[in-house]
Amino acid sequence: SIYPATDRAWLDVDLEAVRHNVRQLRARAGVPLIVMVKANAYGVGAAMVSRALGVPFDRTPAAPDAPWGLGVASLDEAAELRDAGCRGRILCLTPLLASELPRAHALGVRPALHRVPDIRAWADAGQGGELRPYHLSIDTGMARAGVRWDQVEELRDVLRAHPPEGVFTHFHSADEDIDSRDEQDARFVDAMLALGDALPPAVLRHSDNSAGIASRTRLSPGSLARPGIAVYAGMFSELLGLRQVVHLRARVIDLREVAPGETVSYGATWTAARPSRIATISAGYADGYRRQLSNRGEVLIGGVRCPVAGRVTMDMIMVDVTDVPCAVGDIATLIGTDGVATISTEQVAELADLSPYELLVGLPLRVPSRPL
Ligand code: PLP
Repeated sequence: SIYPATDRAWLDVDLEAVRHNVRQLRARAGVPLIVMVKANAYGVGAAMVSRALGVPFDRTPAAPDAPWGLGVASLDEAAELRDAGCRGRILCLTPLLASELPRAHALGVRPALHRVPDIRAWADAGQGGELRPYHLSIDTGMARAGVRWDQVEELRDVLRAHPPEGVFTHFHSADEDIDSRDEQDARFVDAMLALGDALPPAVLRHSDNSAGIASRTRLSPGSLARPGIAVYAGMFSELLGLRQVVHLRARVIDLREVAPGETVSYGATWTAARPSRIATISAGYADGYRRQLSNRGEVLIGGVRCPVAGRVTMDMIMVDVTDVPCAVGDIATLIGTDGVATISTEQVAELADLSPYELLVGLPLRVPSRPL
């Protein structure tokens, strides 16, 4: 094994797969990317992913194919990247409180703004009248953040005085409903027409998330796109040729024989139908292997699928290895690839009745992320 024998549960992150997925998304989008690394890069590891993508860190210059920028949801997330040495462009796409703007300034973060007083406050925070870049957030139907598309006129004066670097919106159903996506797209265009020459001619425009990139059919691709989930979880993997990024691994820490009629784990929900061999694995729901996978999930041992027997417990699961040769110390793959077999993030999420987003961001800090 390439792993130290003391490891109990860990996440192998295939950084080559991350780079591959980003290349595929870049090609499909046809425009440079803001790669979303919020929520610790969807649980995968924000600094590690950003470095692997060739974003400039410390004295390392940007790689030629580095993304245009990184997307976060809070200034703490931005600070973590800056503390790690990140010198790339960082956008905070979640609205900030006015009281947070000085910190955004100090961190060199591009905030998403949409209120007149906030845009003024942002401009005033610049020394010597210099306006630091910000992006104007437009609500075209998500009803979460930004100025309503049909109320942008009130911003004309402030935008003329303090021109934004970018203008963006967010789709609510790009993966489910192309018509609604097109309607939001049209509203976005209307908003920009209404603003007219209040926007600088070279203003950057962005709206596409992963689903928007995957389902792209329209002619106005904007100037940037903002993929998140497809980078990490291979959503749309067939369409875009994406690869599995995360591999959640743990170890066989015990083995026992169970007689017919005997039960396994809390609530006695699994009963042996035959003389059975049960392996105990060193990961449970506190390691991100969700409780909904009780009696439903499968893990790979030696490349063979072994069903979860009984309830997932906090720190351990039991699996049926009656037909699978294995020994204490062997590695079990709970999500990802072992040999020629893969249990993808999307498959595990579906079995757990979760979205891949929730499964990934539910991976706790207790499980260290390691580059593969
Ligand atoms: N842009 C914004 C404003 C977001 O909030 C998100 C994530 O929710 C994304 C882009 C990326 O979306 P996805 O992960 O679906 O690609």
